Amino acid sequence: MKLDSDIKDRLIGTMAEAIASHATELTDLDRAIGDGDHGSNMKRGFDAVLADRANLAARALPDTLKTLGTHLVMTIGGASGPLYGTLFMALGKEIPADPNLTDAARAFAAAINALKARGKSTIGEKTMLDVLQPVADALQAGASNPSGLGDRLKAAADAGLESTRPMKATKGRASFLGERSIGHLDPGARSSQLLIHAVIGVLAGQPALEGARSS
Ligand code: ADP
Ligand code: MG
Repeated sequence: MKLDSDIKDRLIGTMAEAIASHATELTDLDRAIGDGDHGSNMKRGFDAVLADRANLAARALPDTLKTLGTHLVMTIGGASGPLYGTLFMALGKEIPADPNLTDAARAFAAAINALKARGKSTIGEKTMLDVLQPVADALQAGASNPSGLGDRLKAAADAGLESTRPMKATKGRASFLGERSIGHLDPGARSSQLLIHAVIGVLAGQPALEGARSS
């Protein structure tokens, strides 16, 4: 899957737009079970990414991802900044410049492991991992069977987001609420689902995700 600078530019723009257009919703979700800053945190992060858009798009994919992660760590703040930063930086460290689906699946799985280590967290704790881990699993399962993979990844993200609603938070600020965190979507799970949809929206036209081949 050749990601030229035009696709990288569109990936950056689409992710930033997804966050900007849902910043109020993310903040409202965080107001219910946290401190009401997730939308502004994420928007600040992706505004910094947008400000460096041309440079990021021109770099080789591993560098694009590592630098993007650095911007997020430096600007998002809160709990989610270091976690999203770790995710993108680890992805950049693990992915080759011209990845096939197997490379992408392996790198994404490794990046999730880095995020888990950073957050001392795992699936089922009402966090972004409840979206990211099922997507990573679906990507790994789909690497050898790419037909319709984009839709399966989006469905995994949607189901993962919805799975956070009945969960009791045991990590992050929402855990302070205990039982009262039940019944609300997790804001970080929603931002992760938005980013997954944004990425797939751009890559869906790419042969590797359209089902022709796996490399
Ligand atoms: P803060 O909680 O510091 O205000 P944000 O509001 O920006 O930071 O981000 C909150 C989100 O971060 C949560 O909704 C959750 O998805 C995610 N999060 C918090 N702690 C962890 C953790 N240890 N592991 C994974 N995700 C986490
Ligand atoms: Mg918050």
